[in-house]
Amino acid sequence: MTSKPFSLRTRLNEFARVELAHLPTRLEAMPRLQAEIGGPALWIKRDDATGLSTGGNKARKLAFLLAEALGQGADCLVTVGAAQSNHVRQTAAAAARAGLDCFAVLEDRGVSDSLAYKSNGNYLLDRLHGAQITRLEPGADGKVAMAELVERLRGKGRKPYAVPGGGSNPVGSLGYVECARELVQQCRDIGIAPREIVVASGSAGTQAGLLTGLRALGDMTPVLGIGVRAPRAVQEARVFDLAVATADLLGCPGSVARDDVVVDDTHIGAGYGLATETGLEAISLFARREAQLLDPVYSGKAAAGLIHHCRAGRYATTDHVIFLHTGGTAGLFGYCDLFGGEMGLS
Ligand SMILES: *Cc1c(COP(=O)(O)O)cnc(C)c1O
Repeated sequence: MTSKPFSLRTRLNEFARVELAHLPTRLEAMPRLQAEIGGPALWIKRDDATGLSTGGNKARKLAFLLAEALGQGADCLVTVGAAQSNHVRQTAAAAARAGLDCFAVLEDRGVSDSLAYKSNGNYLLDRLHGAQITRLEPGADGKVAMAELVERLRGKGRKPYAVPGGGSNPVGSLGYVECARELVQQCRDIGIAPREIVVASGSAGTQAGLLTGLRALGDMTPVLGIGVRAPRAVQEARVFDLAVATADLLGCPGSVARDDVVVDDTHIGAGYGLATETGLEAISLFARREAQLLDPVYSGKAAAGLIHHCRAGRYATTDHVIFLHTGGTAGLFGYCDLFGGEMGLS
């Protein structure tokens, strides 16, 4: 008996999804940044431009998550994040598009007391999309509060669908399996074999889905996750576990090896959501050389990692390196105070 060869496209199409994102996102060259820092040919995969409420990586995940919610007959989405969470903003937007209510639990992680942080950027957009917001006391656990909120809503006869923080479960990660498929095709079309893909790594669904998709296609391109929160061992375990679960869901178990999962945790700085000098340099360089907008929490730190590795000689000048831009543009406005002081722009 012969079994049919594994087709990633066929398998992905078996999962319901909602058309939330503008796809495919573009793969663009960054010649002026490359000239500035030297080293390999630099490319940018524009997942900041997914189109859902200023864009970002959560749109691809929510396409699958929202479809699952609708399939279960949910009448509202419940989720959790920081006050400047891009994930909460895009979840609120996805709920609005589907005609569902959105309940958002916002943690106070002690990141900032500024007026902009507490009222502008993602928070402003959460409110514009009509999210019903619960703000927690400093240090309170958002996961616990979200579980309680889900129970309260059920008690009132509602049908809540809980979206995990960052949209990072196997269903959400399918969005980045899809991105891997898209990216492999784009590289083929322009005739490059990337030496590495560099991406921010937080709740892990992006890196896990990307790796799962690549390996399921037999593509061995390395993926370098730049951690924004957890120490390397913790983050690598998180990415690997989620990649294993995502591959199981897809029906290609064992696609991702533990060695495929690589995280660099040296660009986190003082902690999640706290800006670093190298991150701010990256934001400035990308804005001035390539007109690309990065944020201080995720994409700026990931770009700082990319710039560091280019300068440190990780790549040959003949290499092609892809920066996966995960978004965060709206967050800039919540962190505008960073750009006025001595760490700011000259
Ligand atoms: C959520 C987020 C990330 C991290 O993606 P994960 O899938 O959570 O690892 C990176 N960049 C931006 C802008 C994000 O909002």
